[in-house]
Amino acid sequence: MGWIVTIDGPAASGKSTVSRELAKRMGWNWVSTGAFYRGLAFVALQKNIQFDDIDALLALSHSDEWSVKMSDDKTCVYFNDTDVTDMIFREDVGNFASKISHYPEVRKSLLDHQRACSLGGAGLVAEGRDCGTVVFPNAHAKIYLTADQTHRAARRAAEEGGSAENIMASQQQRDQQDSTRKVAPLQVPEQAFVLDTTHLSLTDVMEKVEKFIRVKIPV
Ligand code: C5P
Repeated sequence: MGWIVTIDGPAASGKSTVSRELAKRMGWNWVSTGAFYRGLAFVALQKNIQFDDIDALLALSHSDEWSVKMSDDKTCVYFNDTDVTDMIFREDVGNFASKISHYPEVRKSLLDHQRACSLGGAGLVAEGRDCGTVVFPNAHAKIYLTADQTHRAARRAAEEGGSAENIMASQQQRDQQDSTRKVAPLQVPEQAFVLDTTHLSLTDVMEKVEKFIRVKIPV
């Protein structure tokens, strides 16, 4: 197993952009653990599985009808060998993902696949909600990114289109669900470097993150 850096934080806090860029600079692999929840949610929606049908969701989480694969710029989701990655970022898929991520059994069934991403390669940057607390509690460096709610909604609206007000309402609901659930809630991992990105450019964020990483990981 190589070096592991985790980046957690609420919706649209900049985790994907920063973690992807960090992995690129370090020459490591990158994974968005949210893609596992979004992938499962997307396939469940395609199959008309309800968010409270835990048996069907659990069976689907173990099914080889869908899979997740790492790549440099996207964590890809395949459904029956078709690449559906571009469809998993819709806010309705994110919301469904947040609902089903409450179930401990579902989380457990995705965990081994998420951890397997650290095998092979000199290192891994993993982003999500519980990467530093549950998926990789022994990570060599942990980061927690946050940003002002209005700013996060505007950021997602600029990326995906749609009304910033609607996106903000949906993100608020998702953040509330993610941080109050009983199992693996969104929280700041112990010893994490906490960074508020609201008034920072990507260049500034990367500078601070890299400075922190280089102290923890002397490569
Ligand atoms: O990070 P992203 O927005 O793609 O995640 C979608 C949803 O998946 C989150 O709102 C959260 O409910 C769930 N998730 C999680 N644990 C992770 C990553 C994502 O519960 N490590």
